[in-house]
Amino acid sequence: MPLAADSTQLRAAVAALDPVVARLCLVHLTGDRSQLTRFGPAFDGAQRGPQSTFAGPVATMKAADPAVVAEIRDLLVRAMSANPEPVLTRPGRALFRQMAEFCVGFPLGQTACDMAREQAGFSQDEGALEATRVPPEDFKVLVIGAGMVGINAGVKLKAAGFNYRIVERRSEVGGTWSINTYPNAAVDTPSVQYSYSFELNPSWTKYYPRGPEYLAYLKKVADRYGITERIDFNTAMKACAWNESRQIWRVTCERAGREEVYEANAVFIACGFLSRPSYPDLPGLGSFLGPVVHSAVWDDAVALEGKKVVVVGTGATAAQLATAAAARAGHLTIVQRQPNYMLPDPKVLQHVGADELWALENIPFVLQWTRFQSLSTLLTLPVSMARIDHEWRAQTGGVSAINDGVRQFCLGYIGAKFVDRPDLRAKVTPDFPFFAKRPILDCGYYDTLLRDNVDLVEGEPSACDQTGVTLKDGRRIECDVLILATGFILDFLTGFDVRGRGGQTLESSWRPYPFAYMGLEVPGFPNLFITSGPNSALTASHTTLGEQQTHYIVETLKTMVEEDLAAVEVKPEACQSYCARLYEELDQTIWVNHGTAHGYYRHATGRVVLGYPWTNLHYWQALRKPELSDYLVTSRSEAARIGQPTKAVAAAG
Ligand SMILES: Cc1cc2nc3c(=O)[nH]c(=O)nc-3n(C[C@H](O)[C@H](O)[C@H](O)COP(=O)(O)OP(=O)(O)OC[C@H]3O[C@@H](n4cnc5c(N)ncnc54)[C@H](O)[C@@H]3O)c2cc1C
Repeated sequence: MPLAADSTQLRAAVAALDPVVARLCLVHLTGDRSQLTRFGPAFDGAQRGPQSTFAGPVATMKAADPAVVAEIRDLLVRAMSANPEPVLTRPGRALFRQMAEFCVGFPLGQTACDMAREQAGFSQDEGALEATRVPPEDFKVLVIGAGMVGINAGVKLKAAGFNYRIVERRSEVGGTWSINTYPNAAVDTPSVQYSYSFELNPSWTKYYPRGPEYLAYLKKVADRYGITERIDFNTAMKACAWNESRQIWRVTCERAGREEVYEANAVFIACGFLSRPSYPDLPGLGSFLGPVVHSAVWDDAVALEGKKVVVVGTGATAAQLATAAAARAGHLTIVQRQPNYMLPDPKVLQHVGADELWALENIPFVLQWTRFQSLSTLLTLPVSMARIDHEWRAQTGGVSAINDGVRQFCLGYIGAKFVDRPDLRAKVTPDFPFFAKRPILDCGYYDTLLRDNVDLVEGEPSACDQTGVTLKDGRRIECDVLILATGFILDFLTGFDVRGRGGQTLESSWRPYPFAYMGLEVPGFPNLFITSGPNSALTASHTTLGEQQTHYIVETLKTMVEEDLAAVEVKPEACQSYCARLYEELDQTIWVNHGTAHGYYRHATGRVVLGYPWTNLHYWQALRKPELSDYLVTSRSEAARIGQPTKAVAAAG
């Protein structure tokens, strides 16, 4: 139903739009691509509105000619009023590239445009194999975990026609977002990009939604795609063992105290990497008379009102939690081992304005182009933000122009926030390179430090008694409630008994430290895919990474069906050569050359196990399709000779 031309809401919504987005939407609505070029350099895309911090704090935008912008807005209002159905819904590669380059205001490579088309939600699974075979019914895939990545796995396995089942140890989907219920738990990547590209959500109430809103989104996606019905809840995987003669995985789970065994041709691990809370080793902790609560095992019954509260930790969770606790506690002491870089975003606590929300919900393609803008640093970063530019270092002593630019931006922010508090300024200023540990979105934390009822104490707790905490330097802090925001044990899958070929355990393969080909596969473990695995993170939001990894796994499974394969296993030499390149590149980063930075990016051995050292664009490209020459493959006919045929492997449920 066309909207009335003078619709006040439409005019207000169009007025709230970034002019570049408005112009791109006009092209979609009218199909008139001359709109992209008709103003020449007076309006060539470099005139974007202000971006979120995470979309590039150092970029400076040109101001667009107000008369030109007014004309575009007027044309958009008229086009929407005439017919809100877009003429152009799926721009082809060439046109999309022209539009994308207009959107960023400078040339982009074709690969970046292909990734953008997919990741901004214009297309799905760019470069996917056109399958000629339907996956056989007896080819079963078992997914472990129904967090963000497990749900993603379900959606894509279903779309590709695979017979799959998901086991989830909790009673609901959502993983992190179901587990972490501490006050102020919130997403700290803009929601417009921390959401599935295949299920964009125009209706986020905030730019950085709180945990419950994010959890509701995940539940909705799981229901909408019919994933929930394929999940066995309250079912915890305990062990996985490869059966060589049948070329299948036997997965032992526990449900309601009973053992359940599943059999599957392939196992898709989506257990996450931040789910085992890390507790500090504090003698006397058991004697503390008040509540002791870890952020990841939050107890709403714990009252903070008027109490003396101690928060141990200053990571992303601690910053959110401390901000909430300070508003309720009589007095709050934050114990800081080391400061972190804080990134400000004026939108951090804001609700999405009514007009912007209306535009996102009603004007075709506002959502996709807004997402595209948010992703633009992923597309344009030539090298990882973590990479040291040696020439730059020789000249300046810094890391690289971009890394140092962001560092200066953060230091400037500290200076501006703590003008009259040199004591706090000194305490919160990191002395290590930016991104050597996880930077944090400032959700009001610095303002919290300025409150009269808050103290920031440098040190590390070493013991507890009935009524307080003692620090390593001997200082004692009395408190009624002790909150441990001390993070998680980054152990990947070492808590489970996973046995591959010849009974070899994953734990022993990963001694002294975990590694994986593409962050996903380990030699000796056929048809086992580990998402959020070693060295696969830190180049993009976790939804983006999860989608990229899921794509690769599904493409590998489709290839197995096409090629009639029973098993694929990465060759040891392919994995070694991949890891050698990875470690060589990591050596060039500030994750290895991290100065004084602590944090979970590194394993106990010192090996960097979290980060992928190249860019996200590089990872996306590497994960388009499996390189079969890197794999040992077993055909179904060979498998039949090895043992019994692979048919009729019955997944329970
Ligand atoms: C508090 C917090 C905030 C975060 N915020 C952001 C952010 O803003 N942006 C960002 O990019 N990243 C963020 N992350 C990191 C990452 O995005 C999330 O952890 C994300 O939820 C990971 O998704 P996942 O599906 O891989 O794992 P999870 O969400 O951890 O889900 C794993 C699921 O597997 C289940 N499971 C585990 N083991 C078993 C088993 N043996 N058997 C059966 N089920 C099992 C778990 O119960 C869980 O449901 C955050 C992490 C935390 C902890």
